[in-house]
Amino acid sequence: MLIDAHLHLSGREDAAGVLRSLDEARIDVAVLLAPFLTDPYRMEDRQSLRDGNRHLSQLVDGHCDRLIGFAVVNPMHPEAADDLEEAVERGNVRGLKLVPTGWYPYEDRAHRVYERANALGLPVLFHSGIFIDGRSGRFCRPTFYEAVRDHPGLRVTLAHLGWPWCDEANAVGVIDLINGVPPDASQFRFDISFGPPPAYRREVLAKALAVLGPGLIQFGSDRFFPCSGAHIRELVDEVHRLLSELDVSPGDRARIMSGTAAAWLGLPCAKAGTPEGGEACQTAA
Ligand SMILES: [Zn+2]
Repeated sequence: MLIDAHLHLSGREDAAGVLRSLDEARIDVAVLLAPFLTDPYRMEDRQSLRDGNRHLSQLVDGHCDRLIGFAVVNPMHPEAADDLEEAVERGNVRGLKLVPTGWYPYEDRAHRVYERANALGLPVLFHSGIFIDGRSGRFCRPTFYEAVRDHPGLRVTLAHLGWPWCDEANAVGVIDLINGVPPDASQFRFDISFGPPPAYRREVLAKALAVLGPGLIQFGSDRFFPCSGAHIRELVDEVHRLLSELDVSPGDRARIMSGTAAAWLGLPCAKAGTPEGGEACQTAA
């Protein structure tokens, strides 16, 4: 069982192509983010985000056993919470992706979106750490996301281990463990979609495993469709190589490659965290 919990749609792909690439990469379940970084979809343009969410919903329709759609909204838009609800009502949206660009995760306008996501029972994936636009890193420091604790039901993932603030990300994540909260009940988990450049990856992963444990770490490739399965598989193989170098047990490896995300997403196979190549689970919806 392999779950890629961080894949981007560009708006130029179709379901058949996505499924073909997933087959080629031997990925069982994929979290797909509505387009927001590729023309004509832009974070600042509310209508384009609504269009992107519609594209997402249409693309995953009929494939909910493998494709898990995450809508994108921008809390800078006063209607963001309603836009999220609109996307959910259309169907096939099972989570929310947020990128703080121009807003801080502890602002009131962000809380309004968290509140709605919580009411709708949606897991949230946050970008965290330095951002590709070269302008928004300052909005995405891991400690800023402690604001989600005002919404105890929310289960969030911080992407990229907060790179380059990975120590800060570990510090945020370890608090629930210190307080005896089991990993699946923790408000925070972290994806290892690479933020860190290759020279840092082994060290970053080793520290995250030592501090957070596999129970709070999940795989994500952060690849953009349309792309080949080989392009995604490269990152799967790189993570496996690093996990081998770090002597990670088969059980812990299965947790990282599927179990953590399955629990976060509420998939019925969450408990098992079956090894890659093991039986794929049936999803609820
Ligand atoms: Zn991403």
